[in-house]
Amino acid sequence: MSAIPTELETPAAPFTGTPRKVTPHQTQNEALSFEKSSPGKRAYRLAPLDVPAVRPSALLGDAARTEPAALPELSEIEIIRHFTRMSTWNYAIDLGMYPLGSCTMKYNPRVNEYVARLEGIAEAHPYQPVELSQGSLSILKDLEHCLLAITGMDAITLQPAAGAHGEFTGILLVRAYHQARGNARRTVIIPDSAHGTNPATAAVCGYEVVNLKSNPDGGVDLEALRALVDENTAAMMLTNPSTIGVFENEIAAVAEILHSKGALLYMDGANMNALVGKTRPGDFGVDVMHLNLHKTFSTPHGGGGPGSGPVACKRILEPFLPAPTVRTGADGTHTLDFNRPQSVGRVRMFYGNFGMFVRALAYILANGPDGLRQTTEDAVLNANYLRAKLEDVYELPYKTPSLHEVVFSDRRQLKHGIKTGDIAKRLIDYGFHPYTTSFPLIVPGALMIEPTESESREELDLFVDAMRQIAREAEENPALVLAAPHSTRISRLDETAAARKPVLRWKAAPAATPLTPDTPAREW
Ligand SMILES: *Cc1c(COP(=O)(O)O)cnc(C)c1O
Repeated sequence: MSAIPTELETPAAPFTGTPRKVTPHQTQNEALSFEKSSPGKRAYRLAPLDVPAVRPSALLGDAARTEPAALPELSEIEIIRHFTRMSTWNYAIDLGMYPLGSCTMKYNPRVNEYVARLEGIAEAHPYQPVELSQGSLSILKDLEHCLLAITGMDAITLQPAAGAHGEFTGILLVRAYHQARGNARRTVIIPDSAHGTNPATAAVCGYEVVNLKSNPDGGVDLEALRALVDENTAAMMLTNPSTIGVFENEIAAVAEILHSKGALLYMDGANMNALVGKTRPGDFGVDVMHLNLHKTFSTPHGGGGPGSGPVACKRILEPFLPAPTVRTGADGTHTLDFNRPQSVGRVRMFYGNFGMFVRALAYILANGPDGLRQTTEDAVLNANYLRAKLEDVYELPYKTPSLHEVVFSDRRQLKHGIKTGDIAKRLIDYGFHPYTTSFPLIVPGALMIEPTESESREELDLFVDAMRQIAREAEENPALVLAAPHSTRISRLDETAAARKPVLRWKAAPAATPLTPDTPAREW
C-alpha cells in the first residue's frame, strides 16, 4: 500500500467560491459536493401556475415559514451524481464478505425481493378489511408454522421489530407469567458472555441483573448457577450458541436447575443460524426465545431494511402474547383475535414488519428443510475453515469446537503495538468489511468472525490471505497497520471527537434573503 496521497489544488473552478483541496484520486466532479450550491439552480421547472396563488401564511398562519428553507440549489444531474457517488463509497454484502461476528450478515437472496414486490403483497394495506386480507394473513400463519417447526416451540408472535425488541417482549411474557402466579420475582440471571442487549432488556423490564461467570470453556458453570437460582429468579437469559460460537453442552441441565425453582429459561436465538435443522430449543428446555429474521432468515440487515424479531414460547406463556394474534377457523378462514385478556398488549403497530415476513417465508420455502439444514452445515464449515487457516497466526483463546463463528484475540499482535481495531481497519484496505472488534468482553482484544454460509471457498481464501498478510505486516511494518485504512475516502477518524462532538446532519448557511410578504409564492 502506498502512503496516503498528498493534497493538491483543483484547477480554477467553474463555480464561484474558494477552490477546494482534493486528493488526486478524487475527480473534479467529486469536488462539486452539494455544499457548492449556487443560487437559482433548479432540478425541475414547474408548469406555470394556472390557479390563483395562495400565500402559505393564508393557509398556515403563524406556522408558515418566514425564512427560506436554505436548501442546496443544484441541477438534477448534480444531485443524481452526488447520491450515486456516495452510494459507491459504501460497503455492502452485495459487494463483498461481511464477517461481522454475532450479526449473521448473510446474502439476501433476490427471490425474497421478487416475492416481496408482487403486486398483491407490496400493495396490501393493514387497514384492508380482514375478508380482503386473507392472503396476507395466511403468509403470517405459514411463517408462524415454519418458525414453530424450526424452534420446536408452541406459540409465537411476529410483532417485535428487532432482536432487542423481541427480548423485551419475551421478558414481558416472563414477567406477566410470574405476576399471574402472584409474584413477578426480582432478578434475571445473565452470563458474562451475553450480548449487551440482554442485561439492557432485563433492566428495562424492571429486573435486577445477576451476573453469572462463564466456566473455562466459555459455557455455563452449573455449580455457580445452582448457587444463584432461588425463588427470586424470574429467568435466565442465555445466548446459545454463545457469543464465542460455542454450543451450550449442558443446556438441558441449565433448564432443569431453573425449572426446579420455578424460574424460566429465555434463549437469545439470534445465533439460530448454527442450529436450524439440527436441533430445536423447544426440545432442550427453552421456555421462550426470539429469532432474528434479519440474521438467520436472510432479510436485509441494519441500514438495509427494518428488522424483525419474532418471539416463540411454550404453551404456559401463550396467554400473555401480544394482541392481536391470527386465528384460523375450521374452514381455513383467518381472523384477528384481539380478545386476549392476559396479553402484555401490542408491542408494534399492526402485525409487525410484514415485508420481512414475506422475505423470510420465501427464504424458508426456497430452501426447504434439507436446504436449511445444509445452510447450517455450510455456515459452521465456513467458520471452522477460517479457524483452521488462521489459528497459527492469531491467538485462539477458547479451544472448544466452534459453530458458526470463531473468536480470536489480538494477543500476539499486541506485542507489536497492534490491537484488534487496527487489524480491522487494515482489513478495509483489502476490500473486506471489518469483523466485530473487542466483543465478547470475556475475550480481551477479540476478533469475532462470522463468515456465514454465503461465502464461497474462493472468497474465504481471499479473506485468509488478507488476515495472514496483516499478521505479517503487524510484525514487519506496524506503522502501516496503525495508520490504516489507506484506501478509503476518509481515513482514521478521531473517535473521541466523533463521539463527543458528533456532526449528525448537514446545516445550511444562513439564508441570504429573508422571505417577505412580497416574495413570489413559488420561492417559498
Ligand atoms: C444481534 C443480536 C441481538 C440484537 O438484535 P437486534 O435486531 O440488533 O436488536 C441480540 N442478541 C444477539 C446474540 C445478537 O447477535
